[in-house]
Amino acid sequence: MNVENLSVASSTAEKKGVVIIGAGLAGWHVIDAIRAKDTEIPITLITADSGDRYHKPMLTMAISQNKRASDLVRASGSEAANTAEVTLLANTQVIDIDPVSQTVQVRSTTQSDDTLTTIGYEKMVLAMGAHPIFPKSLPQDLVWHVNHIERFSQLQEKLATGSQHVAIVGAGMVGTEIAEDLLKAGHKVTLIDLNDAPLSQMLPATATARIAKAIESQGIQFLGGYQVSAVTRVNDDDNDSEDGEKLQVDYAPLSSDADSTDTQPLEPLIVDHVIASTGLTVDEQLPAAAGVEFDRRTGIVVDAATLRTNAANIYAIGDCMSINGVACRYVAPLRAQAATIADDILGHEHSGYDHKPPMIRLKNKAISVMVTGVPQAAGNWQVKTESDDELIMDLLDDNEVVSATVTIKAPAVPKA
Ligand SMILES: Cc1cc2nc3c(=O)[nH]c(=O)nc-3n(C[C@H](O)[C@H](O)[C@H](O)COP(=O)(O)OP(=O)(O)OC[C@H]3O[C@@H](n4cnc5c(N)ncnc54)[C@H](O)[C@@H]3O)c2cc1C
Repeated sequence: MNVENLSVASSTAEKKGVVIIGAGLAGWHVIDAIRAKDTEIPITLITADSGDRYHKPMLTMAISQNKRASDLVRASGSEAANTAEVTLLANTQVIDIDPVSQTVQVRSTTQSDDTLTTIGYEKMVLAMGAHPIFPKSLPQDLVWHVNHIERFSQLQEKLATGSQHVAIVGAGMVGTEIAEDLLKAGHKVTLIDLNDAPLSQMLPATATARIAKAIESQGIQFLGGYQVSAVTRVNDDDNDSEDGEKLQVDYAPLSSDADSTDTQPLEPLIVDHVIASTGLTVDEQLPAAAGVEFDRRTGIVVDAATLRTNAANIYAIGDCMSINGVACRYVAPLRAQAATIADDILGHEHSGYDHKPPMIRLKNKAISVMVTGVPQAAGNWQVKTESDDELIMDLLDDNEVVSATVTIKAPAVPKA
């Protein structure tokens, strides 16, 4: 059942049941897991967006495949809610949680009035994701992000008008993947990062140097070791962007060596679009209101076996939470996490969630990068195999036990 009108939500307060905040992959996985075991328990899904079901990893592959946002939506929020027999409060922001009365306060994002509605819960699941970090130099009104299908959709429409120059700030996985996707779609791409190579926060320099070389040989302009200091609008009538507006990207070398010519002011980039892929952070406001233990760096703290927070009857899943001090912002663990939450909520016996870091694969075709374990750039990385075509390195912990492995391979050359 799909509830567009918040006044109907008061009936939910009477029947309570499970309230899930957030309709990303995490929230929908919890619904699937509960419904697989219980078709009766009332579930209310509250989400600031439309609730549409889509596979977020596709956002870094879609533009070159000429896919629009509508092509990526597997089911609209209302269709999916009908199928799962949940009450969907779409376009509805949760603005407060009271863990004592076990209620949440919500406000419609589409109606102009500030009316608040109170909804009760017996069990609540926080699946509210993490949101992009925009450094001061990247004003949100000028810069895109690809962390949500709605914003992605607006960018996709702009880029569909013809070949353009896009600057991407941040060469983590998302920045590096979208860079290749845009290049393949015929755009000119400049990828800028504080570090000398992509994925430098995750992998050692021996490995990341190969990634830098691969993407540069594809035609991506990689500016490593540079910091963007400002993005501003320039008026340039002599350009082909849709609204006749270009952006100026000022940037400078990160370390200024007095003898280096790098200290000269650099010619700014003039581009059509700037995408920020400078990391994610979890909004502290709701966890704080709920009295849930929170770490500014990694998000909501949960018990590793049950995914319960320290607040009674509140669970957390997905990008908003961390297990044993580590955020794990990937899709693969969601199914098992959701199954554990479902069992725990329904009072079924379960053996506890056993967190295993997922295999991480960069989606770029220019180079194959696969990582297992919990990688971090700093540490004792040892080369296991090194040839022109392949590099395998292990990260050893203090006890010389392998805690992560990276395997980098040159892409297979297609047969003639
Ligand atoms: C471009 C891109 C590519 C990726 N590629 C991969 C990949 O290849 N492999 C992989 O494993 N992972 C990948 N990831 C990561 C993966 O997609 C995420 O870990 C996962 O989708 C997170 O899902 P989520 O439901 O936790 O969060 P989100 O998808 O962010 O959902 C959060 C939901 O909460 C709602 N919400 C937030 N605050 C409120 C509020 N106050 N009130 C109401 N609703 C609220 C939002 O509207 C949204 O519906 C990628 C991520 C991105 C951005």
